[in-house]
Amino acid sequence: MKRVAVIGGGITGLSACLRLLSSGGDVGILLYDASDRLGGRVQTIREPHLGVTVEAGPDSMLARKPAAMRLIESLGMTDDVVSTRPEATETYIVRGGRLCPMPRGYLGIPFDPSCARPLLTEDGLERALAEERLPLHLPEGDTALGAFLRTRLGDEWVDYVGEPLMAGIYAGDIDQLSLAATWPSLLDLARAHGSLVSASRALTPRERSTQPRAARSAFITVRGGLASVMERMVDRIERSGRIEIHTHARVKRVTRAGSGYRCHIELTSGERFEQDVDGIVFAVPPHIAREIMSPVIELPDVETHYQSTATIVLVYARTAFGPDLSRASGFLVPRPEGMAITATTWMSSKWPHVAPESLAVIRAYVGRRGQDESLALPDGELARRAATEVAGLTGAREQPVWFRVTRFAHAMPNYGVGHLARVERAEEALGTSCPSIAIAGAGYRGVGLPDCVEQGEQAALQVLAALRA
Ligand SMILES: Cc1cc2nc3c(=O)[nH]c(=O)nc-3n(C[C@H](O)[C@H](O)[C@H](O)COP(=O)(O)OP(=O)(O)OC[C@H]3O[C@@H](n4cnc5c(N)ncnc54)[C@H](O)[C@@H]3O)c2cc1C
Repeated sequence: MKRVAVIGGGITGLSACLRLLSSGGDVGILLYDASDRLGGRVQTIREPHLGVTVEAGPDSMLARKPAAMRLIESLGMTDDVVSTRPEATETYIVRGGRLCPMPRGYLGIPFDPSCARPLLTEDGLERALAEERLPLHLPEGDTALGAFLRTRLGDEWVDYVGEPLMAGIYAGDIDQLSLAATWPSLLDLARAHGSLVSASRALTPRERSTQPRAARSAFITVRGGLASVMERMVDRIERSGRIEIHTHARVKRVTRAGSGYRCHIELTSGERFEQDVDGIVFAVPPHIAREIMSPVIELPDVETHYQSTATIVLVYARTAFGPDLSRASGFLVPRPEGMAITATTWMSSKWPHVAPESLAVIRAYVGRRGQDESLALPDGELARRAATEVAGLTGAREQPVWFRVTRFAHAMPNYGVGHLARVERAEEALGTSCPSIAIAGAGYRGVGLPDCVEQGEQAALQVLAALRA
């Protein structure tokens, strides 16, 4: 029987395991993860004494990406799906220490003079709207997301809307992110509508719309939190009886062994062992995969910067806030505001299952590329700083009754300009020299959970195809 090792047990590695199980009745599977648990970045905080179930890591999945729903359906969890509350529609952006509504246009791109007041100055708004009259010169190759948007919509729109919204997802710096790897849809929109402003006008849902609301929101999660999706995946894997799971097991190196490979593994206890396999799915960040397989192949470097971040869950008595809280889904903090927090999500307003009515749960994010000094603060101080900033902006009348800081060291891949070409080069090199090794995960072709599921599944199929060739 052929054997396949999956290195990394985050959502990418778990998806690869499930695909290997469903498509490869003839292979034995070994899963290795360096940490003490499976699930990687997905971590749900469950505090039964408070009645709180809230995400420490990823908060939701983009519903329109088919891999998300496909996974949930395949796990028999469709009845557990939760949509965002329809009334929590307002996102705010901080300017001058005040919360301003995000511009009404699609992706915050204004399409008429009233759209972005009071967030943008009259000059900034005029400059952004002038984009509609600019000739459309789309970049030939890849370029920085910031460079493209600054040329189109001006610096003020980029600094106060574009960066917090679009680079925020990566905890990144908009001037260093690849346009092609992060927001290629902007190019399609500009091409289709002649300008981003016209695209925004065409795509923004009208408040007067007579269309019935979609039954499911743009983002979904499940009632028990995203960790329950990981738990169901692990349960499937364990019950199959066909996968050996090793946690606390760091793969240090891969060498050649006959026509296959030898994995060299070190346990947290210091014990070492080796395992011979025929194929490998690497579901770890690119620099780790490259280092592990260096005795076998000198893989072209994907060169992705990984940014550290932290989330701070703040639980308040509901009475700490006024009635507006229920309409808010969160706020973004532009870089020039110089605050420690970069954004907040108002978890209990956004999701119905997070907390009882008597509590309000706000989650703050700290740390982005070039602005991450506050990550050096100890947990208690970081939480106090976040709570003080939240209070200054929202007028919270009470202190949080509970908090939890979760740190994600080197967690957010920031795809640089030329990223996709570098990924292609790495994939090609593997395809030529080591076809039964595949690379997948957030460091390559999309950081969103559905992207990771898709990549894990594809990597599994690629390895199986090579083994059967
Ligand atoms: C704070 C935060 C919020 C986010 N919010 C969202 C969101 O709302 N929606 C969304 O879709 N995405 C979100 N993301 C992104 C998403 O969570 C990640 O992109 C995704 O979870 C990455 O999955 P992965 O399996 O590729 O990597 P990981 O989850 O990082 O898993 C990699 C695994 O490899 C293991 N490993 C590393 N080295 C070795 C080794 N040498 N040997 C064995 N094992 C090893 C690690 O222990 C880890 O378990 C968020 C991320 C963060 C950090």
